[in-house]
Parts: sequence; structure tokens; C-alpha cells
Amino acid sequence: MEPKIFCQSCTMPIDNMEDRGTEKDGSKSSEYCKYCYQHGSFTDPGMTLDKMKNIVTTQMQKMNLPASLLQQSLDYLPRLKRWQKA
Ligand SMILES: [Zn+2]
Repeated sequence: MEPKIFCQSCTMPIDNMEDRGTEKDGSKSSEYCKYCYQHGSFTDPGMTLDKMKNIVTTQMQKMNLPASLLQQSLDYLPRLKRWQKA
């Protein structure tokens, strides 16, 4: 099954409720994963797009995902909501 919803910060699939971050009131975020977003704010506010690219690369290599998939994610990152310049 193809994931439908991706974290708007790191591209992780968040179809599962357990993988989603939380808002201030404790409800689940519909846009961010639990690693990026907790209690209504980003877990690492100093994160930059370049840092995130490094983290995604490290994680995906650890999971032995194909390089083509990694490249796809890296190309996708700048288009995510968190990295859009307002
Ligand atoms: Zn995330």
C-alpha cells in the first residue's frame, strides 16, 4: 500500500495515527510526524533544510532503501510545507 500522507517536515509517511505528532491540546497533527512535531511545536526549531537532508539520508541508508527512493525524497523535501519560504 502506498502511503498517502507524508510529514511536511521530513517526508516520513504518517498514515498511522501513532506516527503523527501532537498539537498543544493533545490532538494528532495531520501534517507532521512525532519525531518532528510535539505539543504544537517542532522538536528541533533550529532545524534547517540542509540538516534535514542529512538526517533523511542517514535514516534511509540505515533502512537500506534504494538510492532512487532516497533521491526522490531529497528532491521532495524543499517542497514540503515546513521548508516553503512564506
Ligand atoms: Zn517528520
